[in-house]
Amino acid sequence: MKVENLELVNEKYNVFSSFVGDVETDTLFTFSAKDSLVAKGFEATAGSMILKGYRPPFDATSIRKMREAGGFLIGKTNMDEFGFGTFSVNSAFGIPKNPFDTERSCGGSSGGSACAAAIFDNHVSLGVSTGGSIACPASFCGVYGLTPSYGRVSRYGLIDYGNSLDKVGLLSFRASDLRKYLPVISGIDEHDPTSAVQPDLKLGQKVMKSVAIPREALMEGNISKDVLKCFEESIEILKSMSIDVEYISMPILKYSIPAYYVIATSEASTNLARYCGMRYGQQEGDLTVKFDDYFSSFRSRYFGMEAKRRILLGTYARMAGYADKYYNKAVRVREAIIADYRKHFERFDAVITPTMPFISPKFDDISVMSALDSYKVDFLTVPPNIAGLPHLSVPCGYSEKMPIGLLFTSAHWNEDALIDIAERWDLAFDVRHADVIV
Ligand code: GLN
Repeated sequence: MKVENLELVNEKYNVFSSFVGDVETDTLFTFSAKDSLVAKGFEATAGSMILKGYRPPFDATSIRKMREAGGFLIGKTNMDEFGFGTFSVNSAFGIPKNPFDTERSCGGSSGGSACAAAIFDNHVSLGVSTGGSIACPASFCGVYGLTPSYGRVSRYGLIDYGNSLDKVGLLSFRASDLRKYLPVISGIDEHDPTSAVQPDLKLGQKVMKSVAIPREALMEGNISKDVLKCFEESIEILKSMSIDVEYISMPILKYSIPAYYVIATSEASTNLARYCGMRYGQQEGDLTVKFDDYFSSFRSRYFGMEAKRRILLGTYARMAGYADKYYNKAVRVREAIIADYRKHFERFDAVITPTMPFISPKFDDISVMSALDSYKVDFLTVPPNIAGLPHLSVPCGYSEKMPIGLLFTSAHWNEDALIDIAERWDLAFDVRHADVIV
């Protein structure tokens, strides 16, 4: 649908945590952004009650660049609190509902961004991925989701989850938007030193010719029959595009999830230390009590359950004397995963797997999942994320009218090949619109 009636859209789909009253129609394009990216004129909450009322005085670099390119920011999108989740149900300002079926999740943690990309015509949304938060919602909402290499897009103005993992990227219904907007948001930014090492983004030079399928990824984690069938059909489509498809072995992938959750929660637990009721967002409280009682009561009251769990996990993993047992070991696993991918990228342009092991689940089914169950479903999206590799989810099929995604991971800085395949895929595959009724 056209970018209008945001209030009605939000009533039905909970896309935004905040949005504009009037959409300017004389701008070049409209965009939305995950609520962990700060933007002048909007509250920035990162899906957390603790940040309610925080109005940042500046734009994140990615938002500034989109605005300078002529974009009009229509709203900040709902997300799992600080990015902690896979279904956007840990969102303090409304749980986004899937445009294909409102009883199902949009995925997470950039769920609102994927929802906006699926609903609005000519619209692109900025998302952020730490362990799969662009690819997962792209898959569940049937849109393209591009996560660039770590360091390609500045993280300045991003409310961090895990600094060594966070990546800002794009979600859109149109594959052509990736070529259009990746150069806009990419580039060296003096405010984010990790953006400084990147080679120039050169597009239009690489063509995807060969892909590899890691056997273990398909066997390990209970991928549903409909997703496997769709994956097999996708392989046939790739072959018909003259792309070589081969099976490889990557046994190291099974360590990605434990290593990721150690690294991500360790970093998250230090990042969340700054929210103590004194600097950002909520600040009312009883100032007559001892300072640590003030901080604890504040943090107990306003952090959600999952944020508390991650703080406990991360703090435990970082405890003095435990570094070798958890954090340092996880970092070594990360290095081994990167080395293994590198070896395969000498022969192949990309590694492919399904994006998620199943179609978007119903909220009822999510409510009975344990925390560990939901951590485990990320086993296909975490590997490229822990390795900082660029990856792309494309819609590749439908089951029970719900979209299914196919995930391409390529070598560091090789977004070019991903954009090439996104556009060719768009010609070969008929991507469906959701029936949006407001
Ligand atoms: N689901 C993963 C997590 O909860 C990834 C989330 C993300 O990329 N922000 O950590």
